[in-house]
Amino acid sequence: MSSHAHDPNCIFCKIVAGQIPSKKVYEDDELFAFHDIHPWAPVHFLIVPKAHIVSMAHVGPEHEALLGRLMALAPRLALEQGCSPYPDGGYRIVVNTGAEGGQEVHHLHVHVMGGPRPWVKG
Ligand code: AMP
Ligand code: ZN
Repeated sequence: MSSHAHDPNCIFCKIVAGQIPSKKVYEDDELFAFHDIHPWAPVHFLIVPKAHIVSMAHVGPEHEALLGRLMALAPRLALEQGCSPYPDGGYRIVVNTGAEGGQEVHHLHVHVMGGPRPWVKG
């Protein structure tokens, strides 16, 4: 199987379960969003599926609706978190995948970064 409901060793599963504290941005039955602990930008939060999907490389047709909801949520939360509107404002949406893609946490997550330049990184 490419995904499981929860992985007891996964830091983001623990955040979703409330076993590790986080600064929550949003939660529904399938998705959870929280501030990145080492922000690259004035606004930097992560959106994760509650289910333990390892990476984009593990996504199949059964995840299409979930990822559609996740991506559609990102612009709304970006504005709520203080990003300025398109086109002068905006934000960056990033999904690191695998070692060469720079993925460090192996629970699928979407970075949403924005706010006034310059940023710390990126
Ligand atoms: P990635 O390189 O795409 O796997 O990014 C993982 C991100 O998770 C990094 O930006 C980390 O700063 C962030 N991160 C790691 N641990 C935590 C945590 N406990 N709470 C919030 N963000 C975290
Ligand atoms: Zn997980």
